[in-house]
Amino acid sequence: MLRILLIVLVFAAVIFLFNRLKYSRETVREKSEKILPATLVRCAYCQLHLNRDEAVESGEHYFCCVEHRDMAENESSR
Ligand SMILES: [Zn+2]
Repeated sequence: MLRILLIVLVFAAVIFLFNRLKYSRETVREKSEKILPATLVRCAYCQLHLNRDEAVESGEHYFCCVEHRDMAENESSR
């Protein structure tokens, strides 16, 4: 009788640990998914940080708006 109780206890412990592991892995995945889509880039002209989706890309640089891209290009060509 004691042996059956022991086996049941071991099973319960294994299931408990497995669920905890699964839960913690899911929360880590949720957190990384929340962080990943909003990749911040810096405007090469005014140093403003903004979402990469909203940034104006020019070569290897990012800008907050078309005006700053043009101003940076004019300064570098001078
Ligand atoms: Zn800017």
